[in-house]
Amino acid sequence: MPEAMTKPSVDMEALSKKKPEETSFAELGISEALCEACEKLNFKHPTEIQKESIPWALEGRDIIGLAQTGSGKTAAFALPIIQRLWDNPQAFFACVMAPTRELAYQIAETFEALGSVIGVRCAVIVGGMDMMTQAIALSKRPHILVCTPGRLQDHLENTKGFSLRTLKYLVMDEADRLLDLDFGPKIDQILKVIPRERNTFLFSATMTTKVAKLQRASLSKPVKVEVATKYSTVKTLLQYYLFFPLKHKDCYMVYLLNELAGNSTIIFTRTCNDTQKIAIMLRNLGFAAIPLHGQLAQAKRLGALNKFKAGTRNILVATDVASRGLDIPMVDVVINYDVPQSSKDYIHRVGRTARAGRSGKSLTFVTQYDVELIQRIEKDLERKLDGYPVEKDQVMMLQERVSEAQRIATLELKERGGARGNSKRGRGADNDDDDQDLEEKKDNGQKKRFNNKKRR
Ligand code: AMP
Repeated sequence: MPEAMTKPSVDMEALSKKKPEETSFAELGISEALCEACEKLNFKHPTEIQKESIPWALEGRDIIGLAQTGSGKTAAFALPIIQRLWDNPQAFFACVMAPTRELAYQIAETFEALGSVIGVRCAVIVGGMDMMTQAIALSKRPHILVCTPGRLQDHLENTKGFSLRTLKYLVMDEADRLLDLDFGPKIDQILKVIPRERNTFLFSATMTTKVAKLQRASLSKPVKVEVATKYSTVKTLLQYYLFFPLKHKDCYMVYLLNELAGNSTIIFTRTCNDTQKIAIMLRNLGFAAIPLHGQLAQAKRLGALNKFKAGTRNILVATDVASRGLDIPMVDVVINYDVPQSSKDYIHRVGRTARAGRSGKSLTFVTQYDVELIQRIEKDLERKLDGYPVEKDQVMMLQERVSEAQRIATLELKERGGARGNSKRGRGADNDDDDQDLEEKKDNGQKKRFNNKKRR
């Protein structure tokens, strides 16, 4: 519960007795035009985190929000910022820091969708994109900056005429992740050059000691809003495990993908190489799979995500890069090809499905080497996962085809020089065309061979 200091003008006591589905955005103090913007996005009622935090944010309080992925936390900070921007339009009004580039783009999309009524202008400032193009975007003086801390710090130091001296709002999203990724020192430097007189919102899925320290250093008398327990997953998520020997992993995966054909699925793996190899293998078996991992150039990563979002590919094979904060609507199934290393990662991965009240399934592959790891996760979740029913004979019937597809994928990966696509033919990470290659291979092997010859 929020610690009361100044009470918001909204009657919080009456509000706390109501369920989110009995509440309207107007009751939280949101203006009529923004209520309409919410309606357009089909936000009929505020979510729990929105209901608990928006009145305090509008009252000018700092917020520390502990909310799980999919809880609607982006709109929880975007709505009050847009409303205040409306009252007092100015450039560089708010800055949102996010741990990954993809999440930054997604946050900017939410700001633009909700703020279209007042023509909110956003700039996304992330690594992997051209500094000069970003400097031009900054010179156009946007209202909202969404950035990863490293690149923002770079511009603050090196881009002439750019400063955040007029900033009114700072948001640190996925703060636990920002700190896990060692953005701490960069954030400290940024905090030194922005006004103390500002509002700060810090959102995090979990409260770690590092987050608590950041909170003490950067927020003033925050209202703490918590809508999730430490390790919780939503009720509409069905969580299963499958136990089998390591050597049959790919067979089980292909069996499941056949069983679940037509569902949008994310397969999480541990390494970039596995991601790439599985995507190639699945393509060879006729599945519409696309890889997403940290070694792909930024444009490729966004391209993969967009194809998946648009539905032209219904299987995304990803490393944990994709498990945090990304809002990929309508994911039906999450497959943990490898058991995640920590319960936190598990929550983030399976949080890609069963979002915003929808139902979803997660399937975690457990081999003889993963028993301890999965038991630890079950202990943290305080629940046992259910076994997923499979016809073993049917799985084994796939063995021959899967082995052949594995063999081809290994060869292809070797040929292209690993996940980055840095083959001996000198193709760098920034201009690789892995995805086109995958398509070509599936559709027309001969054309591919011709292209290879040309490249040589
Ligand atoms: P987030 O936790 O911010 O990533 O949001 C998760 C998903 O919930 C996104 O697809 C949002 O568009 C959606 N969402 C946010 N707020 C609401 C709401 N009040 N009603 C319905 N959907 C929402």
